Amino acid sequence: MCLVTGHPGPRSVFVTVFANQIFRYWFLAIALVSPVFAAGSPAPHVSVFVDATETPRKIFHARMTIPAKPGTLTLYYPKWIPGEHGPTGPIEDLAGLKFTANGQTLSWRRDLLDGWTFHVEVPAGTSSVEASLDFISPAGPGGIYTSGATATDRMAVINWNAMLLYPGGWTSDELTYEATLKLPTGWKFGTSLPVSAEATDQFNGQRQITFKPVSLTMLVDAPVITGQYLKVVPLNPGQTPPVELDVAADSAAALEPPADVWEHFKNLVTQSGLLFGAQHYRDYHFLYSLSDHVAHFGLEHHESNDSRLGERALVDSSARLLGSGLLSHEYVHSWNGKFRRPADLATPDYEKPMQTDLLWVYEGLTTYLGEILTGRDGERTPEQFREALAYTAADLDHRPGRTWRNLQDTADGVPSMQDAPRQWESWRRPLDYYEEDELNWLWADTIIRQQTHGQKSLDDFCRSFHGAPSGPPQVKTYTFEDVLNTLNQVAPYDWRGFWTERLRNHGPGAPLGGIEGSGWKLVYDDVRSELVRAREGDRGTVNAAYSIGLWLKGDGSVTDTIEGMLAAQAGIGPGMKVIGVNGRKFSAEILRDALREGKNSPNPLELLVENTEYYKTFKLDYHGGEKYPHLVRDDGKPDLLSDIIKPR
Ligand SMILES: [Zn+2]
Repeated sequence: MCLVTGHPGPRSVFVTVFANQIFRYWFLAIALVSPVFAAGSPAPHVSVFVDATETPRKIFHARMTIPAKPGTLTLYYPKWIPGEHGPTGPIEDLAGLKFTANGQTLSWRRDLLDGWTFHVEVPAGTSSVEASLDFISPAGPGGIYTSGATATDRMAVINWNAMLLYPGGWTSDELTYEATLKLPTGWKFGTSLPVSAEATDQFNGQRQITFKPVSLTMLVDAPVITGQYLKVVPLNPGQTPPVELDVAADSAAALEPPADVWEHFKNLVTQSGLLFGAQHYRDYHFLYSLSDHVAHFGLEHHESNDSRLGERALVDSSARLLGSGLLSHEYVHSWNGKFRRPADLATPDYEKPMQTDLLWVYEGLTTYLGEILTGRDGERTPEQFREALAYTAADLDHRPGRTWRNLQDTADGVPSMQDAPRQWESWRRPLDYYEEDELNWLWADTIIRQQTHGQKSLDDFCRSFHGAPSGPPQVKTYTFEDVLNTLNQVAPYDWRGFWTERLRNHGPGAPLGGIEGSGWKLVYDDVRSELVRAREGDRGTVNAAYSIGLWLKGDGSVTDTIEGMLAAQAGIGPGMKVIGVNGRKFSAEILRDALREGKNSPNPLELLVENTEYYKTFKLDYHGGEKYPHLVRDDGKPDLLSDIIKPR
């Protein structure tokens, strides 16, 4: 997964973690390689009908027929959603719940210890229960991942896990679901879910699609994108397995980007194939939403990804730069995260808690590979790639939270911490196993190249760990030991020592060994890169983080201060608002001018700040000018970084 937020910091993308030892060992015992498909057992066959014709009102109606026996029927609303790494199933958006059997309304009660569990009283003589529910999609900001806004007047993404219940006592691989979906008049759709029948109502033009029966696992793996404006772009025409992009937007104009956009996505498929050497899907669909009115994130599946950015993400050059890397990240997850998955993250249903300690592989390695693929597929120039890497390194190099919290804990704590507010982020420490592990996997890549005198690279690890044989979706679980073993097969080294240090250290500073080992150095100057300007423009933010330790919104509101740097030392904190700079009304330009002029002035920088209805002037004795990060060549070392992002 990958969360795209409005944070002033460099992070554009994020993702994933969990705890039941009994389950863990049971699972390890039965399956190192397990099919994701129904095992042919006598498990229930459930039909689910979703009426999406009221999408513009953001309400979806679902009806289910669930086999049942007299007594208490326990049903679950999916809670631990794959790829979301937490108990994020949007239970607060479930409404209109009703159960009937033989025309009688049945009584039900929510479990007192788990709000996602329902107990239904089934009378004698009953063989199945009709369940109906509404999913009321959030209409505004708020909610993370699939619990965020998902529908507009012109498009929607149907995530099946939000629209159904499932009976207890079976794994999601064992349960079979047959889904039917009704769409608004004239809307098209895209999905990896195999279709068995389609019909259009001759009176109202509404399309109804019946899908082939699949396991509950594969139903949840296959969301449907639908909309009035939807474009289908084949990304590897004539090849097997097929890959296509299904992109829906709030306008037709958003679907007419420069032609190189589609070429780069085609290159992404080619370059990913060369990187891994195999595929673990039968038919892959990028489901890409372009809207300013849906939550922005990416969520991975075996055979698709649900990725969402702003309406102009493909047609506006700044938005395109900021969005680059999201689709490559989610596509890489088909190999790293879905096919190869940490054993304690691979759960049998959506009720068992997940454990997130290995997200530094699941998400960290995916972040690294997703980023380097933006260079290999051409979506970023080498300079744009380096500016993005510099930004990531600079942000992590100004992360005082590492003094109390190591990188491992950022992964371990995900289920309870991932929805934390952005204020105090640098001290609390956010989901650093994404971006800090991008730096760490770059470091590992340079070590492999050095140890093997350029004969091998992390590509060899990926081919061995994630590659052949190709085939339909399956889950092949792994442990920390498996990662170390494969690394040692590629290039013998003290990988245990390397990763233990990387995961448990408390700094100081970011792990820059990969940047330095690949022939580059992190430096700061007063030049805002294209990326810094794009981020500030897109989010209305001001980045004074590396000069005085201050992140601001465009109106002067302080979103974060960096402990130990001048603004924090002076007494400024998140939630305050800068309203004046050296006696003049605040603006981003006025603050930047003042930072620049301070280099040649003995006077302190004076910030007039409002805090809970009180005003105060803070004086910062700062004369270092503006500071923005860049990478510059270290001529004493070979340029491995440029090799890493060259197309294969
Ligand atoms: Zn991810």
